[in-house]
Amino acid sequence: MIFSKLKETRNSDRRARQLDLLAEPPEAGHELFVGFSSLRDTFSSRHHSRDFAFAHARYLRSRVLALGIIFAVLSPLWIVVDALVLPATLLRYTLVGRVVLMLSLVVVLLLALFSQERIRRIRFCASMLLALPAAFYTLVLVMLPSNELHNLVGYSFIPFLLVASLSVFPFTLLESLFAGIALLALLVFSQIVDGSWLTGRGVEAFWLLSSLLAVSMAANHFQLSLLLRLYRQATHDPLTGLFNRGALEVHLDKIQAWQRDTERLDCAGSVPCSLLMLDLDEFKQINDTFGHSVGDGVLSQFADVLVRQTRKHDCTARYGGEEFVVLLLGSDHAGAMEIAERIRFAVESFEFLDCEQQRIPLTTSIGVTQLRQDEPAQDALRRADDALYRAKHAGRNCVMASEPPPS
Ligand code: GH3
Ligand code: MG
Ligand code: MG
Repeated sequence: MIFSKLKETRNSDRRARQLDLLAEPPEAGHELFVGFSSLRDTFSSRHHSRDFAFAHARYLRSRVLALGIIFAVLSPLWIVVDALVLPATLLRYTLVGRVVLMLSLVVVLLLALFSQERIRRIRFCASMLLALPAAFYTLVLVMLPSNELHNLVGYSFIPFLLVASLSVFPFTLLESLFAGIALLALLVFSQIVDGSWLTGRGVEAFWLLSSLLAVSMAANHFQLSLLLRLYRQATHDPLTGLFNRGALEVHLDKIQAWQRDTERLDCAGSVPCSLLMLDLDEFKQINDTFGHSVGDGVLSQFADVLVRQTRKHDCTARYGGEEFVVLLLGSDHAGAMEIAERIRFAVESFEFLDCEQQRIPLTTSIGVTQLRQDEPAQDALRRADDALYRAKHAGRNCVMASEPPPS
């Protein structure tokens, strides 16, 4: 009895964690301009939504594949130069090192190739792409006798090549800073080994690498800012800051896939999800009476009410002109009806204001349905729309469930 209770609590804790993982904060007011105002967004990925993290990872993956191929081809090609300048005793070391490096790069490439939507794995591949050549250079420095190091040609530029490569990736500033500091440490180590540390040549190289790091980080900032801006324009409605229709449809597919996965993995069954479709009542009249710009203000105030009335992991979208959709994760039919009623009441009692701070009366009609994991998401949207249509016919400012009632 106690065990089954414990198991149940563990299951529900895990479910809550899974829901949080899928969390898609609506990010109202999260402005993403290209320029210094977006430093917060490019400094670390802390403020990035999970959905953007996927888009970011896809972009990062394409860079990993491109640069991985370049590194994997260039690395063995340099054996020709090594063979020309190194004595046979030393060539052995670099030859083995280069072959191992190339094979490791190929493994990283394959891993990236088969990690379509795996954010952590793609980040790992990107860091390996920088760490492997750096490790190869460190090993060469450690293995070769220091009096033979002057024979090496084309090795000391490895930290410079890697710092320059940072600019190709849409890394956050923090990620680039960590990688840059590690590569500066590698440069210092190589200078200590070859005796150029704190000499004029050594300081010059250190200065050059630091400057290159600053340039790469500036490139990271602008690249990531642009990516954030494009992502936001493609997925968010500019007036309300909510998801747009296209982003909602993609999100619904992801949620259904997640429902199927959790059902497969979790003996407690699939996670119930509900869809609310909301339409503002007699909104045309508001436009006609107060003007279009006041209507716009009402729409964005309405969006704020929706965000406040839903949880962090629910998804709120502007579906059309004055139609909105809310996806409630983990809410069954009864729960969804309760939340819909709460939203309806919150809208009815909210003080929507025009420019002269006059109250604008506003109500909303809501259609509710369940999102089933094995149906086209369009079917659920259509059912919610039918329920909304009936709510309008029932006199507006009310909540209606889809027909037939869910089993
Ligand atoms: P009902 O209760 O039947 O939904 O009546 P309604 O007046 O809300 O419905 P109708 O579809 O006739 O009107 C919707 C209005 O919403 C018409 C359109 O001008 C307005 N609208 C759509 N998009 C926007 C927008 O972005 N800003 C503003 N201000 N109005 C919009
Ligand atoms: Mg309307
Ligand atoms: Mg409408």
